[in-house]
Parts: sequence; structure tokens; C-alpha cells
Amino acid sequence: MEDCIFCKIVKGKIPSTKVYEDENVYAFKDINPAAPIHVLVIPKEHTTNILDTKSETIAKIFEAINKIAKKEGFAKEGFRVINNCGENAGQTVMHMHFHIIAGKKLGEGIV
Ligand code: AMP
Ligand code: ZN
Repeated sequence: MEDCIFCKIVKGKIPSTKVYEDENVYAFKDINPAAPIHVLVIPKEHTTNILDTKSETIAKIFEAINKIAKKEGFAKEGFRVINNCGENAGQTVMHMHFHIIAGKKLGEGIV
């Protein structure tokens, strides 16, 4: 997608701090971190949200999250995975992404 900032990140047209990459998935540090570790995990191929994303792609993203958690060293202490889907959830970038939040004791609330 031409005007999508995350597509531009995948293509290297906008700089990012890469955390993980494979054939289908790219992960990079969030520019405005909500915790000491805040990584965004995205499919390289553009989709808007979880509703128009194939389950195979979602599975590949979660395989990547598993690897990232172990590689970055926060698998044992725990972490949170978040997906914002649509307006009421506050989705601001319309390229499907999962947030990994880690590196501190997180609050109990989800809203
Ligand atoms: P969401 O509210 O779920 O759509 O989250 C979008 C996330 O993308 C936010 O946490 C932003 O801080 C992050 N973000 C936006 N632009 C960039 C960028 N150029 N590099 C890294 N993270 C970004
Ligand atoms: Zn995109």
C-alpha cells in the first residue's frame, strides 16, 4: 500500500529499529514506547486489521512473537500482546500489527 507507513518501514523507506525479520514477518521497536520493551510485529504483506488477515498469517506472527520473546530475554518474566482493531480500540496505523509490551510489571487492567 503506497501511503502506509508500515509498508514503507518494511521496504526500508522509513527507518526503524529492527528486532526480528523472516520471510513473512517484520518486527521493530515502537517509536513511542509504553514500557521498557515495546515491539510492533507486522506482516510484510499489507492487511488492515485482524478481520482481513488470513489465519495462516496470524499464526506466523505468533510464531515470530514466540521467537522474539526468547531472543530478547523476556519470555520467562512475562509480557503482554495487544492488537487494536478499528476505531473504538484506538487503532491509528491501518496496517495490522501486534504490540509486545514487556520489561516491567504491567498493570492489571485491559481497558
Ligand atoms: P495502534 O494505536 O495500535 O495503531 O498503534 C500504532 C503504534 O505505531 C503506536 O504505538 C505508535 O507509537 C507506533 N508508530 C507509529 N509510527 C511509527 C514509526 N514510524 N516507527 C515505529 N513505531 C511507530
Ligand atoms: Zn501497510
